[in-house]
Amino acid sequence: MAVLQGKGPHHWPRRALVKELGLADPVGLRRLSVPSTIAAMLKSGRFHTILGRFASARRIRSAAATGVVLLAMAVSGARTPPSSAERPNVVLVTLDTTRADHLGCYGRTDAGTPNLDGLAARGVRFADAWSVVPITLPAHLSMMTGCTPVTHGVRDNGGTRYDGRIPTLAVRFAAYGYRTAAVVSASVLDSDWGANAGFGVYDDRFDGKSERSAASATTCALEIFGSSTEPIFLWVHYFDPHWNYEPPPPFASRYRDDPYQGEIASVDFELGRLLAGLDKAARKSIIVVVGDHGESLGEHAERTHGIFTYRSTLSVPFLIAGPGIPIGRVVSEPVSILDLAPTVAELAGLSNAKLQDGISLARVVLRGEAAPRSRSIYFESMLPFNSYGWVAPRGEADGRYAFIDLPKREVYDLRSDPEQARNLYTATDPLSASLARRFERVTVGLAKHAGQGTPAPLTEEQRARLSSLGYFPGVPSGPEAPTLDPKDVVDLADRVLDATQLQRSGHFDEAIAMADEILRRNPENVRARAVRGQALLSQKRFREAAVAFGEIVARAPTIAIYRTDLGSSLAGAGEIAKAEAEWRKAIELEPHLADPRAKLIAAHLGKGETAKAVAAAKDSTTSGAESPELDLEIGLAYATSGDLATAERWLESALRLRPAYARALATLGRIAYEQGRVDDALAAYRAALAVEHDPRERTRLGAIISDLSRATGT
Ligand SMILES: [Zn+2]
Repeated sequence: MAVLQGKGPHHWPRRALVKELGLADPVGLRRLSVPSTIAAMLKSGRFHTILGRFASARRIRSAAATGVVLLAMAVSGARTPPSSAERPNVVLVTLDTTRADHLGCYGRTDAGTPNLDGLAARGVRFADAWSVVPITLPAHLSMMTGCTPVTHGVRDNGGTRYDGRIPTLAVRFAAYGYRTAAVVSASVLDSDWGANAGFGVYDDRFDGKSERSAASATTCALEIFGSSTEPIFLWVHYFDPHWNYEPPPPFASRYRDDPYQGEIASVDFELGRLLAGLDKAARKSIIVVVGDHGESLGEHAERTHGIFTYRSTLSVPFLIAGPGIPIGRVVSEPVSILDLAPTVAELAGLSNAKLQDGISLARVVLRGEAAPRSRSIYFESMLPFNSYGWVAPRGEADGRYAFIDLPKREVYDLRSDPEQARNLYTATDPLSASLARRFERVTVGLAKHAGQGTPAPLTEEQRARLSSLGYFPGVPSGPEAPTLDPKDVVDLADRVLDATQLQRSGHFDEAIAMADEILRRNPENVRARAVRGQALLSQKRFREAAVAFGEIVARAPTIAIYRTDLGSSLAGAGEIAKAEAEWRKAIELEPHLADPRAKLIAAHLGKGETAKAVAAAKDSTTSGAESPELDLEIGLAYATSGDLATAERWLESALRLRPAYARALATLGRIAYEQGRVDDALAAYRAALAVEHDPRERTRLGAIISDLSRATGT
């Protein structure tokens, strides 16, 4: 995916945007009055008089003038936007999958995080910061909007695109006259999912992979930052600590026994490089560092994150440092990543948002005021339902107790039991009952402003990328309501991953046995059913595969990929008409899917139905579906119909998508031969042979090449 320049709603006429969203007013549409004493002080440069109201002299000396003006205004309530020269940069660094307790500044010894620790020492550290959801995309949208996933409407990775119903920080900064840029490092945040709203530059290039390294992200971020003369809102997302844990050298050897920590240390190193680059700029930067969620590392029998809502995956680092920010302050009250947007907005002088679930901590940061000691910190994770058909945990913490709403409810006293090892819930206990009632009120309140997002069925490529990161979203459990409590079946999550791995590596019998074992306890687990079906299909046990996928389709009739697999199973069993019906249904459900289209064209060609094949090919060319296999089949359809020029174009398109595609190269060879271009044909067949692995196909290509060589005398 390319860098997106000038896309998104920030490109609307600014005047319309201000009106539409009720944002801060960078262009003077709404004149706002400034208290005259403050205005006079600002004019006379007596910034410290204002600052003196909330900051100690030591803190003032640490502050650079540009940030001070802005922050002073933020806290004093003045609303005239400062001139461009007075605005600091705002740099948001998000650390994926980073547990707070794995950083030196949060108490870990030998953490290898000197840059994060240094940032905490020269700024404000929130010692008890909570993520709202242990899943990357919804967590980041919550940071950017200040709203829970219920409100912004994106509750899982993949399947739902953010619809922009709440202006993100980027949209608001853009409307405020800032340059906005983002560098993200995992496909779950690529622009397909809407987190790019408001960013003038959104760099989501992963070189065909699902993620990129912190080193690459830092280099891109510094390039973007270096060219900036205007104030910039820059978001840098580091993904490395996410599973698999494969730190780069020298962290790989230094942390051989703890590669997860090695990933965190390597990100810290890259953060150091980023901060050094930012420091060189004349305009100073407010730096905000926050984790999107933690990592369970085996606690509560969870390997990674997303199944539970315990502190192991919800407790995150949260640091703010920069001009005007007090040095070395620690805030012990509980805060949420929902507070990030309101806080940054107030620090930077953006006007209030209309809808917000978080609270501004600007006064806590700047004036040393206490944050609310007891407040509702909401959290949820829909992943167990979406991926496995289990009940999704939701809950609330209040600074003392955590309540988790599941079939078997949970209550923990976080003060005496921070590891959440002793569930205090009993139905007759007044504390349990009152926490349950309060949570009920929270959910009723949230439901009033619930968003939906835009449903976005996954393409094959998106699905493959997500599954390479360990996610299998968008698979419903079927019509029945979920009943399984994740606590009772958490071991099955690892088994699903293992079964998937066995199936992908060709261990089909083992994959089927493991899937059967999962399904005995968890018949709603569509992913396990799919693994079983795909293993049967790979073994050419077509009738059994058709039964397996038939059961899935009965449970999830609207998911096109399973209808495609059912079609392939039926075709293998010789039931071509039924297979075609399934592929047609799949295309109708999800027109952007390439796989059923390629299979349908191939089936028509197989039966000698050239006109039908060409019709299906034409229909595909306007559908947005794209894959090397589909482009090959379209090319074959046109070639068979005699339209060799059009066929060539589609084969070349297939080769652009997959350069080492032997079948496409060989078909180009055949077309060149039919057009009398024997030298071209020979070159194409030789290129095909160079990348062909199938022994029988290699023999066939070898024979053609030797015939052609004799014919041309080469
Ligand atoms: Zn994440």
